[in-house]
Amino acid sequence: MKIPQLPNREIHLDFHTNGDIPGIASEFNPEEFASVFKKAGVQGVCLFSRGHHGYCYYPTEVGTPHPNTQVEDLLGEQYRALQKVGIVPSVYTTICWDELAASNHPEWLCQRGDGRLMKMDSLSSEALGPFGAGWQFVCWNSPYRHYVLKQSLEVTRRHPDMDYLFLDILFNHEPCACSWCRKGMTEKGMNPESVEDRTRYSYESAREFMVFINEGMSQEFPEVPLFFNSRLRLTGCVEEGSRPEVPLMGVNILESLPSGPWGYDHFPLYGRYFNQFDHALLGHTGKFQKMWGDFGGLKNQAALDFEVIRMMSLGVAASIGDQLPPRGKLDSPTYELIGNTYNRVKEVEKWLVPSTAIDEVGILLSNRQKELSSVGTELDSETGAMKMLAQMQYQYAVLDAESDFSLYKVLILADGIIVDDALKSKLLVFSGNGGIIILSNESGLDEEGRWNLNELMPLNYMGQHPNKPYYVRPGNELKESLQDTDHVQYMGGSLVEAGRGVEVLASITPPYFNREWKHFCSHLQTPPQLPSENDAPELLQYGNTVYFASPLFECYQNFAPKSCRTMFSFILEKLMDTRLLKTNLPTTAETTVRKASTGETVLTMIHYIHQRRTNTIDIIEDEIPLYDIDVDLYHPETISVSDGETGESLDFIQDGKRVKLKVDRISGYRVLVFA
Ligand SMILES: [Zn+2]
Repeated sequence: MKIPQLPNREIHLDFHTNGDIPGIASEFNPEEFASVFKKAGVQGVCLFSRGHHGYCYYPTEVGTPHPNTQVEDLLGEQYRALQKVGIVPSVYTTICWDELAASNHPEWLCQRGDGRLMKMDSLSSEALGPFGAGWQFVCWNSPYRHYVLKQSLEVTRRHPDMDYLFLDILFNHEPCACSWCRKGMTEKGMNPESVEDRTRYSYESAREFMVFINEGMSQEFPEVPLFFNSRLRLTGCVEEGSRPEVPLMGVNILESLPSGPWGYDHFPLYGRYFNQFDHALLGHTGKFQKMWGDFGGLKNQAALDFEVIRMMSLGVAASIGDQLPPRGKLDSPTYELIGNTYNRVKEVEKWLVPSTAIDEVGILLSNRQKELSSVGTELDSETGAMKMLAQMQYQYAVLDAESDFSLYKVLILADGIIVDDALKSKLLVFSGNGGIIILSNESGLDEEGRWNLNELMPLNYMGQHPNKPYYVRPGNELKESLQDTDHVQYMGGSLVEAGRGVEVLASITPPYFNREWKHFCSHLQTPPQLPSENDAPELLQYGNTVYFASPLFECYQNFAPKSCRTMFSFILEKLMDTRLLKTNLPTTAETTVRKASTGETVLTMIHYIHQRRTNTIDIIEDEIPLYDIDVDLYHPETISVSDGETGESLDFIQDGKRVKLKVDRISGYRVLVFA
């Protein structure tokens, strides 16, 4: 299977159209269809062969055409019209959501553990009963899988030169307990009554399904890359995550619509994890105010600009989701909006996609078992670490235990990473080569809860501190960065004793007592006692290893106390001999540093501010310019610095191994190219 270089500016064109809607494609004109995309700077479009209502949009012998279509081969006409103007088509089909298959074959439906059939509201992800309006799930372990393969083969025979085949929705709302799955589990010696077994069977059988489709397709079409959607999972439990599934995909597509359930924290975490694989990466956002299916919902221009440059700044090609209205005519204002975004970004994309990350810090994903979901995030500690690093303009990647640690100067083991012997060996090698390891709270314990890193820091781990919250008092060295007071640590932390030679940089001041029914003080936490020499340590350093007793990263994600970030910053400054980028950018800016495919170093500075203006959606409306930005980048022997968008040369000073310059203005984003 080839691993293609995808077009940089794509559209993912949904067409989930109910059978009761009349006049399908009655306003479709192939030349006009293609020219709207062309004018908007679009290079590739993913077209639909079959949607979630189950209808096919081409002459089919295995499926069912939409009953009211006015154009027999809508897919073919769209496909050829795009090719005529040099736009690359790819093709969409669906797996678990097919309403037609669901109503014709109720025996194929997925079942919940409590016996109800599986049905879901797309936006809220709520489970629905028989009278709710939402998608039913058809089980990939039922004979339906043969229909998916047959239809995929049929449409690929019609368009064997497609860029990729997008197979959507390979997930269950909860692990399936239908008769097909119960039978499959029993044959494998698993217990269908056990939620753990159903969970394991769900991801194992999904992988078997991917292999089934791969094998069925590759006999005829070894060159057509396949993509299975809804498989994105970030977890340090490697076997349960996405890593084993990457080889089953021909491309990797990161669906992440910030105004849908994904939010603005989702994309950077996932983008920075999937960057470590060789696959071509494509990111999905949407033109919608909310998410897929939001007819008449138009995103603000600044938000779309931000979402697209943010993808490209991580080396990820961009795809914007739209839904074709039933009559088949594209919505003009939608493509004015998209055209504004794509026609600006095409001036800078050559520096960014493809490109290679230059990162200095690695965030290790938690390997404690938790609910797996591709939408939203329960990765609070990782997200807290990501936010602090992004706000301080450090360059970081998201890793699991299988990642190559040698690419980074610092590893963050945030709050709860279990260190088994395999991970311990990797950490000892990393540390032995001068790597900095920062752990917090329960990170560093083995599966039995014993401190497993005495070689890196001698420590007596005694469980959780009896007081929660508690206070953190800086030691003399830290006082220069952090105000000399008792800073509340809302989530408490661990109780440890420093071993020989371990330096204590901050201590825990306990409150007079915990807040309980028998005694409490004021509205919130009890105030701190007088500090004493016997107070337990909060922040410890031993050579290149640092340990925070508190769950510093989760606390930052929950409450964002600046004291957490100040302590983290203090440690990074203290231990790192150099950092890649120093600037006076505000914490609202985002930066990436990457190596272009042509060898230059590329700095992208982005500034848009999202604001919670509704109960559920973060909104970006304005492009707020920044002026007089100091850039100080580690870049020995600089020949030139230029603006990636205009090509204009910029004055700079080479100061040892660093290049320094002042940037007059950032309007939304600015890309600098260092040769
Ligand atoms: Zn099932």
